[in-house]
Amino acid sequence: MKYISTRGQAPAMNFEEVLLAGLASDGGLYVPEELPQFSKETIASWSGLPYNELAFNVIQPFVADCIDDSELKRMIDETYAGFNHTAVAPLKELGTNEWVLELFHGPTLAFKDFALQLLGRLMDYALKKRGEHLVIMGATSGDTGSAAIEGCCHSEHLDIFILHPHNRVSEVQRRQMTTIIKDNVFNIALEGNFDDCQQMVKDSFANQDFLNGMKLGAVNSINWARIMSQIVYYFSASLALGGPHREVSFSVPTGNFGDIFAGYLAKQMGLPVKQLVVATNRNDILHRVISGNDMSKGELVHTLSPSMDIMVSSNFERMLFDVYGRDGAEISELMSRFSKESVELDPARWEKVRELFDSYAVDDETTCDVIKQVYAETEYLLDPHTAIGVKAARECNRDPAVPMITLATAHPVKFPEPVVKAGLEAPQLPAHMSDLFEREEQLQVLDNDLATVQKFVASHVHTE
Ligand SMILES: *Cc1c(COP(=O)(O)O)cnc(C)c1O
Repeated sequence: MKYISTRGQAPAMNFEEVLLAGLASDGGLYVPEELPQFSKETIASWSGLPYNELAFNVIQPFVADCIDDSELKRMIDETYAGFNHTAVAPLKELGTNEWVLELFHGPTLAFKDFALQLLGRLMDYALKKRGEHLVIMGATSGDTGSAAIEGCCHSEHLDIFILHPHNRVSEVQRRQMTTIIKDNVFNIALEGNFDDCQQMVKDSFANQDFLNGMKLGAVNSINWARIMSQIVYYFSASLALGGPHREVSFSVPTGNFGDIFAGYLAKQMGLPVKQLVVATNRNDILHRVISGNDMSKGELVHTLSPSMDIMVSSNFERMLFDVYGRDGAEISELMSRFSKESVELDPARWEKVRELFDSYAVDDETTCDVIKQVYAETEYLLDPHTAIGVKAARECNRDPAVPMITLATAHPVKFPEPVVKAGLEAPQLPAHMSDLFEREEQLQVLDNDLATVQKFVASHVHTE
């Protein structure tokens, strides 16, 4: 399968090249030239399969020309065997036709494990085949870092350096990163804030001379392989509730638009999906575009759902590319205008977006109210991101006869503040993590200085 850039200028690539490249050279994002199509009969024949076997069926067409079936199967099996629930992505019923899809049974208790656990293995496989070594550098405000480290820590052909702001992440978040003690894992606690960390990573990508010929790689959600891995659980949830012979709807707590975009792809590939609901917090640009064709950046605010505190959702471009008839020149022009000013979508294109998505924005106060209300109704404790999804699902649901599934993107233990604000007892760490506070930590505190950080990275990479 060939992959093309949303901006139409970068060369087409195969899966392996896209996996290691991240962003396209024209500033666009890679998407498959054509999506695999699954008939109802094919999807129905997957009913009852264990998660790993379903994942193989969904992912195989995207990678078949680069990865042997047996190797792909091994990597998928290893990935999902590391999850702490036999169903991998179990469904819980909140009420009549109201469900949550628990995506937090991976090693770091958030849905990013679904993609990053596989991504680390795929990258390692590709690097080994090519005899290459890659240096991963990333910045985290607390949450994504641990999933990236967990995903890469078993890889022999890459080193991972994650920068977090010193003393500005929660103790659970820090320990989830720093207690993974491996030769190729480096936690840098920077004497600065998150923006400083991000700037340092950006500057390092822009000029990689400090690495003496080695290459930097990215594991953020612009990486196509992450989106691909997330398509699978839309199929698994539908199949568990009577699909493909019955439609289902999804509500997705959204930040960078990666997760909901995977749901959109599942629908394009043949899964009968009625509604796709984009749920946002007060950083609501996506809701404003979808509901009112207002694509204007606001002031970024910090909310109780920090993993959705994003102003510019990079993966939205992938969807716009389809809506604009896959015209890379138009997307390039639109995104370049958007980098400078507010934009409106062409009215006919915007109509299409509205047909594809519903949306709703939820503030912090309502988030706490929903946590409290759902707990009172069902004794089920929602994390704040998931609570936003449940609220949006209830507000946007157009057909009560169709099951509405909210993606539960994190375990509530990761975000206790709104739970306590809602007047409930702070959740406990699951049994397999209960010793987190006793585990040994390893981290390096560094000055907020580019040369210092780059010197540290360069002197710790493993050359082969
Ligand atoms: C990353 C994240 C999201 C947002 O997902 P996107 O793919 O960026 O839209 C939502 N909830 C949690 C807990 C997350 O970690």
